[in-house]
Amino acid sequence: MSRTVVITGAARGIGLAIAGKLVDEGWTVAGCDVLAEELQSLAETLGDRFRPFVLDVTDEDSVTETARRIEEETGQVFALVNNAGITRDGLIMRMSMADWDSVLAVNLTGAFMMCRAFSRGMLRHKEGSIVNISSVVALLGAAGQANYASTKAGLLGLTRALAREFAGRNIRVNAIAPGFIETDMTRELPEAVRNDYEDRVPMKRMGAPADIAEAVSFLLSDASTYITGVVLPVDGGLTT
Ligand code: NAP
Repeated sequence: MSRTVVITGAARGIGLAIAGKLVDEGWTVAGCDVLAEELQSLAETLGDRFRPFVLDVTDEDSVTETARRIEEETGQVFALVNNAGITRDGLIMRMSMADWDSVLAVNLTGAFMMCRAFSRGMLRHKEGSIVNISSVVALLGAAGQANYASTKAGLLGLTRALAREFAGRNIRVNAIAPGFIETDMTRELPEAVRNDYEDRVPMKRMGAPADIAEAVSFLLSDASTYITGVVLPVDGGLTT
């Protein structure tokens, strides 16, 4: 029987690559995103194992209601991938409270609310796997990203706390720390900045969304049943 995985930020970038890979592997994917049109066209291209759910992860009522709808439509939810994330970069002296709050709301509080909503069913079934998409900036820091780096480091705390909380119930919680990955988020960077990034990566190139999808697939699979509470960098050696 097809297992169900919920993915946030599934409409594009890394989330889309994860969704495509897991659909190919036979999962039923509940793809959640704020981008309604993109989700709808994905449902047409990825087929009926991709179920679109318009969801803003910062809206508590909507998270609760969407969790109810997904479980009603697909049955037991085995896995959750917290991938939705935004940046609002700026040096701290110029960082507004709105820029701080909005990044925290999506990247960290959103992930917390999704974990809370979906762990209820996982605890009942005594099985599950959660993967939080953090970032190398959680480990290295990054000038101009005090808000973003704080959320990505916070996700590692959330991951380790829940790994301990759920370990006895056969629910694993892990994090992936992507390095520089080719997506819209990084394509917008000036060429000089991109070249500088590539130069700092020991493998001398940016990663692809598919590299992250492979790591997610491993951490959700039965090949990793004794792995919980880890942070897996997928970064071409950047954090070594
Ligand atoms: P992306 O292309 O911007 O995709 C993120 C998706 O999440 C978008 O569809 C976005 O919609 C959606 N989203 C934003 N706010 C949301 C909300 N409140 N509720 C639900 N969905 C929401 O980003 P990406 O590059 O694929 O990154 C995916 C994840 O990997 C993020 O957590 C990011 O921090 C992390 N990451 C990326 C890199 C990289 O190099 N790209 C490196 C390290 C970590 P909108 O387009 O409307 O915002």
